[in-house]
Amino acid sequence: MSKKGYLGIDWGGTVLKSGVVTAGGELVRKETVSSRRLAEPDSLFKYVARLLDRFQRYRVAGIGIGAPGILDPRRGQIYSLPNVPGWERYPLKARLERRFSLPVFVENDVNLFALAEVRVGAARGKDRVLYLTLGTGLGGAVIWDGEILEGKTSALEVGHVPFSPKGRRCGCGAVGCIETYVGNKYLLQRYNRMNKAHPAQDVKEIYQRAMRKESQALALWDTFAVHLGKFLRGMMNIFNPQMVVLAGGVSGAFRLFRPKVLSVIRQEAMWPHLEDFTLVRSKLKDGGIRGAGIMVAEKLAARGGGR
Ligand SMILES: [Zn+2]
Repeated sequence: MSKKGYLGIDWGGTVLKSGVVTAGGELVRKETVSSRRLAEPDSLFKYVARLLDRFQRYRVAGIGIGAPGILDPRRGQIYSLPNVPGWERYPLKARLERRFSLPVFVENDVNLFALAEVRVGAARGKDRVLYLTLGTGLGGAVIWDGEILEGKTSALEVGHVPFSPKGRRCGCGAVGCIETYVGNKYLLQRYNRMNKAHPAQDVKEIYQRAMRKESQALALWDTFAVHLGKFLRGMMNIFNPQMVVLAGGVSGAFRLFRPKVLSVIRQEAMWPHLEDFTLVRSKLKDGGIRGAGIMVAEKLAARGGGR
């Protein structure tokens, strides 16, 4: 293989996935390892060295890393990773570049999922996209004019937009964040409070019960759809996206909550935003790795030496 490849790394809280990505965003090799084995800089660096060795024949021209936390993408410095202690204020880009003599770019992981979605996924070719991961928490990214919309510290913490002045206390310390209305931990707690006799193990089970028309499960998803719809309406009034892409475990119930979410948006959003709007569920595989590789390819191409 004579074409250049880019090492994309999707550094999740439980697994670290990596692979070689082409400039077009195609994934040609993939590896997965437990993140716990790479908790310290030294072990992560050794692993990257092994990957570069293993992927030698792809002529890796740069490294892209999506990290699950708050970081400065311009300097490639991590501020903190909530689920991976020990990386506070770590200059990841500078250290990796010195060690491997390759250009390195670091970005928030959700931003890279969103980037992959607009380059090779459901939102391909769209300029303005809101991407939400509905998992334990609520993560999000905005694509603006076809590029990641970035603050100084990279991530848009949409999950911590206040939704109610009264609600429950959120993991971030504040009260009433939208995450406490649509995050899976809170959905499960709410459902199990309603259904003490037959608690569910996880959100998937609540979905299955709703598909069997169990009334409490249907009520939970109905309330969820109203909350998500209202939140999306607010986001749409700010960002006016052409498409909203939903990913993460809770989006598994997409078929169930989509009609209600759309009807809440249609009733309440300001009308010009609805003209060309679609709500879809992500189907992209390995979006984190591919987004990381695509980021490197594009940054190097912008410098004039990438292809
Ligand atoms: Zn919060």
